[in-house]
Amino acid sequence: MAPGQLSSTKYIIVTGGVLSGLGKGIAAASIGHLLSSKLKIVPVKCDGYLNVDPGTMNPYEHGEVFVLDDGGEVDMDFGHYERFLAVTCKSSWNLTMGKVFDIVRQKERKGDYLGKTVQFIPHVTDVIKNHIFKVAEEEEADLVIVEIGGTVGDMENELFLESTRQMKEDVGRDNIAYVHLTYVPIPEGVNEQKSKPTQQSVILLKQRGIFPDIIIGRCHEYLTKEIKTKISNFCDVDPEAVITGLDVEDIYEIPVVFEEEGLPGILHKKLNIYSPPDLKKWKQLIANRKNPEKEITIAMCGKYTKLEDSYASIVESFNHCSAHHSCIINLKWIDTTDLKDMSILDEVNGIIVPGGFGSRGAEGKIEAIRYAREKNIPFLGLCLGLHMAVIEFARNVCGLEGANSTEMDPDTKYPVIDILPEQKNITEKGGTMRLGAYTAVLKEGSVVKSLYGGANEASERHRHRYEVNPEFHGIIEKNGMVFSGSSADGRLVEYIELPKLKYFVATQAHPELKSRMDAPSPLFYGFVKACFE
Ligand code: GLN
Repeated sequence: MAPGQLSSTKYIIVTGGVLSGLGKGIAAASIGHLLSSKLKIVPVKCDGYLNVDPGTMNPYEHGEVFVLDDGGEVDMDFGHYERFLAVTCKSSWNLTMGKVFDIVRQKERKGDYLGKTVQFIPHVTDVIKNHIFKVAEEEEADLVIVEIGGTVGDMENELFLESTRQMKEDVGRDNIAYVHLTYVPIPEGVNEQKSKPTQQSVILLKQRGIFPDIIIGRCHEYLTKEIKTKISNFCDVDPEAVITGLDVEDIYEIPVVFEEEGLPGILHKKLNIYSPPDLKKWKQLIANRKNPEKEITIAMCGKYTKLEDSYASIVESFNHCSAHHSCIINLKWIDTTDLKDMSILDEVNGIIVPGGFGSRGAEGKIEAIRYAREKNIPFLGLCLGLHMAVIEFARNVCGLEGANSTEMDPDTKYPVIDILPEQKNITEKGGTMRLGAYTAVLKEGSVVKSLYGGANEASERHRHRYEVNPEFHGIIEKNGMVFSGSSADGRLVEYIELPKLKYFVATQAHPELKSRMDAPSPLFYGFVKACFE
């Protein structure tokens, strides 16, 4: 890409300092939200790890694996981008160092480097920059927001930092803004906002040739005028470009905080753009959550319950429902690995069994579903949750004793859940599941069809290898379980329901991935409604 060629696209580079977990993804998504009224915005996330994508990582390592329409398994920050920016992201927008090294190695083997020694600079940094420029060009983006994972000073993100430093020469200094998110502690006993960690983090950034235009200081309180002046003096940014990144209970408030702090105006000026924020509807939804009229508790029966990040999109789907139903939704995390005493479920208004892999905790999930069915407690099953519901029904209603999924018990007598035929000979783990958006045809008169507003079809995202075994469709349906949505060829069960119960619905998909603040997922919306009744 020749320098200056892309000057019609603007870039915002978001880096983080001091600590991990300060919310760079939410900051980047919020900036995007504020600028999205008139601009086509494309978020790009750079991750320093050597995995090609997070799909092979344990949720404890990396949190939720977010799945896109195109089947990409990407960083969970894409969940924030889609929810805050109302865009459908693509897998090419997540650039990992694993992908970068793959490209470099392929080019080297092809002989593209023509006898040169292949080096981090310029060869690796060129691959990174060209990737970002290509995304900008393909998407005809007005603005690309590049979030660099990790913290300045980490070995892992050095090459991404260097690449984005170089970008200011390529695109022109007026077309790129650097935003640095740091931490402003208020140590106990001192009771004063402290700027030193920010100063030191900015020194690290400057050593890498990046001079921030905007500093966002994550803090328990609004930053005082004094601390803003101090950070401005020591870090060489305008005082009004020091912005509070307030600790908030509700992450959806961050765009509102940034707007109050004047962030959009600073970016308009720096990048010579004009795209005024429109937060009216957004603020109304936040207000609904702040003034709840009712309260419910939902049991989350899974095995990664120690880390809420593993189920981030489910948590957000409930947040969306809480804004629309004006209610508090408490999630009770139940690890089903040792779940024996089901009376713990007596206190809840609804039960959800989310997606998952492997046999640990499976029997506990099956028993929890039995409890939901027998006591008529609203139930929502997601992917593995559908498998567990079918197994429970097969065992306890259809009389197929010992029925199971071949994922849990390869030798089960009644394999009611079995590997998808096209998955049978796949041995590689990365990116090989049935992934991405697939359309299901919905059954006339079903609960699911009415949840989707009477639509004939629904498209949701998937990530699985197993399905309801077609050999058992007949006996299961005969006993009263309704297959309320199937793949177009009728083979794959996409939705099930027990229509006589208050709410007993499960899906092979992950509808939580498409839930939005202004459009909650229909299955969650209906589930929460049933929990009140
Ligand atoms: N382990 C199951 C499968 O692979 C379910 C996957 C999931 O819940 N995402 O089919």
